[in-house]
Amino acid sequence: MAEFKVAREADLAVGRMKQVQAGATAVLLLRLEDGFHALGALCPHYEAPLAAGTLCDGRIVCPWHHACFDARSGALLEPPGLDGLPVYPVRVDDGEVWVTIPEQSQSPPPSRRDPADSRLCVVIGGGCAGAYAVEVLRDHGFGGRIVWVTGAEFPPIDRPLLSKGYLSGEAPESWLPLRTPDFYAARDIEVVEASVTALAADARQATLSNGTALAYDAAILASGAVNRRPPIPGIDLGGVFFLRSRDDGEQLRQAAEAARRAVVVGAGFIGMEVAQSLRRRDIAVTVVAPETVPFERVLGPEIGAALHRLHEDHGVAFRLGRTVKAFEGDGRVERVSLDDGSELAADLVVVGVGVRPATDFVTGVSKADDGAVLVDAGLRAAEGLYAAGDLACFPDWRSGAPIRVEHWRVAAQHGRLAGANVAGAGLEYRGVPYFWTRQYNRTLQYFGHAADWDEIRYDGDPAGYDFIAYFVRDGQVHAVAGMERERELAELEERMRREGLWRP
Ligand SMILES: Cc1cc2nc3c(=O)[nH]c(=O)nc-3n(C[C@H](O)[C@H](O)[C@H](O)COP(=O)(O)OP(=O)(O)OC[C@H]3O[C@@H](n4cnc5c(N)ncnc54)[C@H](O)[C@@H]3O)c2cc1C
Repeated sequence: MAEFKVAREADLAVGRMKQVQAGATAVLLLRLEDGFHALGALCPHYEAPLAAGTLCDGRIVCPWHHACFDARSGALLEPPGLDGLPVYPVRVDDGEVWVTIPEQSQSPPPSRRDPADSRLCVVIGGGCAGAYAVEVLRDHGFGGRIVWVTGAEFPPIDRPLLSKGYLSGEAPESWLPLRTPDFYAARDIEVVEASVTALAADARQATLSNGTALAYDAAILASGAVNRRPPIPGIDLGGVFFLRSRDDGEQLRQAAEAARRAVVVGAGFIGMEVAQSLRRRDIAVTVVAPETVPFERVLGPEIGAALHRLHEDHGVAFRLGRTVKAFEGDGRVERVSLDDGSELAADLVVVGVGVRPATDFVTGVSKADDGAVLVDAGLRAAEGLYAAGDLACFPDWRSGAPIRVEHWRVAAQHGRLAGANVAGAGLEYRGVPYFWTRQYNRTLQYFGHAADWDEIRYDGDPAGYDFIAYFVRDGQVHAVAGMERERELAELEERMRREGLWRP
């Protein structure tokens, strides 16, 4: 244990934070009405310097992906990221601020099963929402059995990395898993690497691909989504890839090592991230999509045009306003023919044309037209059954409209909430949907939800990749997107959390 003088009391006003050094440890020093607090300086998610984020209502918001921490206890309040921040003893003496760094950090022992509790909770899906749910169940004191039916993927992975650093080769394999298997064993979470083939909500029963039938007291459905496979001739040829699972990612990464020419079908977020990752490998990339401006439907024409140009500046070719007629080749894709009669040579193709909820095996719940499971504000789909993540259609507390959102952080928020509710918390979803996308060296952040809008108001210029855009409908801000302005964006998201919709 060692104590370090890190600042003068007068250096920091109330409501402010800054990063200081305590020996070899980077510390986030902050001053609240009740005095100084010292916490870990880096976000456990991707090690962003938290001092570049914002401090609002006793909450620290990470500048990169908006994880949120309690400024006093360090507890994780909002994902992404799974862990809270270390907290260090701090004292003020004669105008100087001193922080003590322990030799070894000590975590409290994990919560385990209570043998006297005979309840069974089945969590279906080994992805984002499932991973957050199982942890939170125990953290909230659920002492019954937790059986986690993970599907083909265990341990859970950082799925957004698949199309970014993992495919480009910048992120090592070791960055993919969210946790190691022993983390779950230490919490008596029983992992079953099988699929649920039938979930009968009326009978409260899950049937597994290994033949087991589980009669549950509670279940959390978090089986996510599956890629849409358009009925294009040749789509089953070798070299035509989809990207969702770890297996998909491994096969695509391997193929990219030998490829020289790639065609990406679809100009959505995944398609465009794939395009940029393949360009980083110096592969010639052509993007084919029916729209005339990438991202226009989600981000509007100005931001879409700026991102389009960013890709062209990095050598991506576009065939916009076009669709694929066929993938052709002898066992393996060699050409992609388009609806205008032209052809593109390709060693590999990645199809990213959207997903649909993975709910075919679920009965006894209400479903939307796309197969999404309808839930109430507490994410309850039926008696004892909660649904979380990409497959859940939930009421947006800000507008009242039912929405389905395919964002990592929403799945994490849902997983946490469903787990807490099974443990008896009785919470309602009042989170702010948030996502990020990384295109080359630019990150775009987006929060709120605006399926459509009357106008987009800009502060700054999308063409310069430095702006905040407000998506306004009926005179109120429904969503905000931006690049570069990290602190302002973090503050605006906090405003949305507090106020819901607001007049610009
Ligand atoms: C390549 C890629 C990049 C992305 N990048 C971003 C990004 O930058 N930012 C962002 O916000 N979002 C991003 N997303 C979206 C984000 O990953 C998803 O919104 C999130 O993973 C949804 O979590 P989920 O738990 O609902 O589903 P998933 O994470 O897909 O997990 C579902 C799990 O259920 C399992 N499963 C399926 N069926 C069954 C069954 N019958 N029985 C048991 N298990 C089953 C699956 O194997 C999987 O493990 C990206 C997605 C992809 C594919």
